[in-house]
Amino acid sequence: MKILKFGGKSLANGKGIKNTIQIITEKAKKQEHIAVVLSARGNATDELLEMLEKAAQKESYHEQFTAFKAYQSQIDRSQDFSEEFSTLENIFQGVSLLGDYSEKIRDQVASYGEIISAKLVTHLLKKEGVNAHFTDTRNLIKTDNTFGNARPLELISKKNIINHFKSHNGTTVNIVTGFIGSNENNETTTLGRNGSNYTAALLANFLDAEEMQNYTHVDGIFTANPEWVPDAKKITELSFTEANELATFGANILHAKTIVPLLEKNIPLRILNTFNSADKGTVVTHKTKKGIKSISVSDHVALINIEGRGLLGQVGIDARIFKTLGENNINVSIISQGSSERGIGLVIAAEKASKAVSALEKEFENEFYTKDVNKISVTSDVAVISIIGQDLSKFHKPYNALIKNQIIPILFNNTISGKNVSLVVKKSQLYKAINVIHGQIFGISKKINIAVFGKGLVGGTLLNQIIQSKNDILEKNNIKLTVFAVADSQYVYLDKNGIDNQWEEAFLKEKTAYTLQQIIDYANTHHLENLIAVDATASKDFIHNYISLVTNGFDLVSANKIANTVEYSFYKMLRKELKKHQKNYLYETNVGAGLPLIDTIKLLHKSGEKIKKIRGVFSGSLSYIFNTFSVEDVSFSSVIQQAENKGYTEPDPREDLSGNDVARKLLILARELDLQHEFSDIIIQNLLPAHLQSISVEQFKTNIKDLDQTYQLIKQNQQENHVLRYVGDLSTETGVLEVKLISTPSNSALGQIKGSDSIFEIYTEAYTDQPLVIQGAGAGAAVTARGVFGDILRLTEKL
Ligand code: ASP
Ligand code: MG
Repeated sequence: MKILKFGGKSLANGKGIKNTIQIITEKAKKQEHIAVVLSARGNATDELLEMLEKAAQKESYHEQFTAFKAYQSQIDRSQDFSEEFSTLENIFQGVSLLGDYSEKIRDQVASYGEIISAKLVTHLLKKEGVNAHFTDTRNLIKTDNTFGNARPLELISKKNIINHFKSHNGTTVNIVTGFIGSNENNETTTLGRNGSNYTAALLANFLDAEEMQNYTHVDGIFTANPEWVPDAKKITELSFTEANELATFGANILHAKTIVPLLEKNIPLRILNTFNSADKGTVVTHKTKKGIKSISVSDHVALINIEGRGLLGQVGIDARIFKTLGENNINVSIISQGSSERGIGLVIAAEKASKAVSALEKEFENEFYTKDVNKISVTSDVAVISIIGQDLSKFHKPYNALIKNQIIPILFNNTISGKNVSLVVKKSQLYKAINVIHGQIFGISKKINIAVFGKGLVGGTLLNQIIQSKNDILEKNNIKLTVFAVADSQYVYLDKNGIDNQWEEAFLKEKTAYTLQQIIDYANTHHLENLIAVDATASKDFIHNYISLVTNGFDLVSANKIANTVEYSFYKMLRKELKKHQKNYLYETNVGAGLPLIDTIKLLHKSGEKIKKIRGVFSGSLSYIFNTFSVEDVSFSSVIQQAENKGYTEPDPREDLSGNDVARKLLILARELDLQHEFSDIIIQNLLPAHLQSISVEQFKTNIKDLDQTYQLIKQNQQENHVLRYVGDLSTETGVLEVKLISTPSNSALGQIKGSDSIFEIYTEAYTDQPLVIQGAGAGAAVTARGVFGDILRLTEKL
């Protein structure tokens, strides 16, 4: 036989009761051997007790009672409840006169929720042709006299149940009231709130059922509440021991009282969804523990803090705290005490907070006077997150993830036995915190939230690359990339769910003017975790946002060179802030676009390998210009024109020809090696004569031929088989940084490069004669965007 139990929501008017009747009818028609235990319908128990309380307070309960009667009769008026309703009416009237009621009366009133429920369901099933039988447990389950929380007397209850089922067997489906019983004097008792589960478990035990099926409004037990954690997963199978641990943290289906009768006879418990009967639910069995983990939350709590230097070394303080709280009926769920004993933190139910504070203040009145205790404070906007099944030795991962997301737990606690860890966090951070922890523990996709500033050539290409590779990255690396903000210098388009390939249209349609703070606020309001800001601008001003981004929890990726080439003091300060907030700043594309140059240099430098010299062609545009000019019989100005047409140069080609861009790259590399140079320390050979430097772009372009004669001569005056290269040269030994035009054999490393390639020669102690060479496409939007993307992915590994 199987024992089915339906909860209040499964029996509520509408879909609930309809599905319940259908589920039972189908099973009965298939001649499955079942008995059904019912709760009160909807919120009937709460309402009955509320009306009773109103009556005792001499307040009017009539309106609520009318609504109650209407609700309970609405499904089928042919079921007559006049007797039940008039008994209730009489009790309420009497209580109203007396202004008080006993626990016994309370149980009697509460019992009508289940009586009405079982009668109605029996009636409805009969109409469906099911041979249903209303079974009133007041005649079967005998209990002690503890009204409100009565304990069943096992022997006699078992005998009664067995006898009843013997005489109502075969095709009969017993529809059994949950929650209620009676004492020796046949006075109604109840088994405690949510007691119908207990009734069902007892029945299963007494009747040696093969399974208990608990029909609820959820699909089963989840790794976390799916309303809070969208990634929460259903646990399909768990052990009674694990279930018991979950129960302590609020899953009342799994209350120890319910588990014990099932455990005793190894009866599996299945949690099913009345509203989704196709789902197989969660099954709890005696099978051995598999190390299931789950996260639960209690957010109706307050943190009491008792502080004072006099607490140091004092014996008996804790005892007094607990005695005081105990006398006031206040339960402490977590206690935490620093080993210095300067303060004690206690977590209690939120509604008891002010009572606790005043009771403790009274208890420690003398200590206040002697200043041994100086503060008893309460923080009410907190929540407790409990991770069940969490081993402390492996807790560093979720913990680090919290810190990286700027969530600092206020209090931290682990149970000595069992594997549970509890954290107290600010309520405002609760949602983000449980999602971060959940993601870490269950290895569910890590969510990375990206804001891209600058949607020009590099930024736009990057956005398209992210959109294209997103699904692959999710599948292969379990990382979910979400671009939640796209901004140009004035406007932003925000979408917490992430942009898609229509982002350009969406930007135009929905863009709004912004301040950086608004983007930060947006990320906060939507609890976005693992934040990355990408600077794909070429803006001098944007770098002033870096510090606020870092302080607000963003890691940085930049294709923009400015932040690394302004004064050294800014460079230093930014790194200090990054360290302080444990944030990273990656800028691989600052030199040599996507080539893995900075990373390599960092690695060599960190490993203690002394870098002596770096030399190379750093600029894609100048590479193209001199590679072409050296071997073709063309004028210098026409090569510049070609380079510009191919999009290799800056809009004003003089930016390249001035050597400043190469110098900036050189400075970035130097600073990577801890050299504290300023831009002005670099010796730069400007390729332009003075008269071409100070005029407008248009004027420059008309006079560009002025360059031809000079460079023709330079080319001709070279030795044989030599070519021109514009190089950056950095020596850590002399400390000289130089950018200049050289003539080099065409078969040398620098001489052989082609197109717009960059080349970097790194001379170190180990690579003295033969330098380490990194060579490849060092410019262009696609490779630069790829490099930025690489930085993003590198960051996700650290997050
Ligand atoms: N109706 C009772 C209550 O709400 C018992 C139950 O639902 O299990 O507590
Ligand atoms: Mg209930």
